[in-house]
Amino acid sequence: MKIIMVEDNEAIIMGLEYLLTKEGYEVETARSITQAEAFLQKRDCALVLLDIGLPDGDGFRFCSKIRENYRLPVIFLTAREEERDVVRGLDLGAEDYVIKPFRNRELVSRIKAVLRRNGKGDNRLRCGDIVINAETGRVNRNGREITLTKLEYKILFSMMSYPGKLFTRDEILADIWDVSGNFVNDNTLSVTMKRLREKLGDSDAQIIKTVRGMGYRMEA
Ligand code: CA
Repeated sequence: MKIIMVEDNEAIIMGLEYLLTKEGYEVETARSITQAEAFLQKRDCALVLLDIGLPDGDGFRFCSKIRENYRLPVIFLTAREEERDVVRGLDLGAEDYVIKPFRNRELVSRIKAVLRRNGKGDNRLRCGDIVINAETGRVNRNGREITLTKLEYKILFSMMSYPGKLFTRDEILADIWDVSGNFVNDNTLSVTMKRLREKLGDSDAQIIKTVRGMGYRMEA
């Protein structure tokens, strides 16, 4: 999956090339609009990350051109934080507008979300041999389908979105509040986690680790 990054700040270029490559994306770095146009003509990229202040023009105008000629999703990545700029960017058809300085993980999630919305993302989340297909809602382990309740699915999906991250019990409870339809208390959470582990074949908590007194962590 290729991303064109249109950016003229070397420090940001370095950081983003590292970040996006690590996430498994291929990155074409364009330091100007002219360069970006050359990349676009290859028509092999999935998304454009677009700065606004560029040496040979402004990103707003370029965004309209990308939308018209290539129908590619655009995410603005800019230091311009004024509301009117954000509104202008979104009105021009950009899928998202991220303000610098940005948080790495947040940017990656936004990119993934945009790719998913455009049917270009890898809709699968993986953790070891467990795979979630976010589009169909199917969960597999080693190719064997696992049927989960809405609640179990939501918890697993959240945790697999951030492997290695500690989820406190409070965080999980807050996260599942809206899908559960009714109040989930601490005890229900423990029971749900136990069932989820059983279904995953993880009764010995090797995949979903318990962090004592804190919460849970999915092993990457
Ligand atoms: Ca710039």
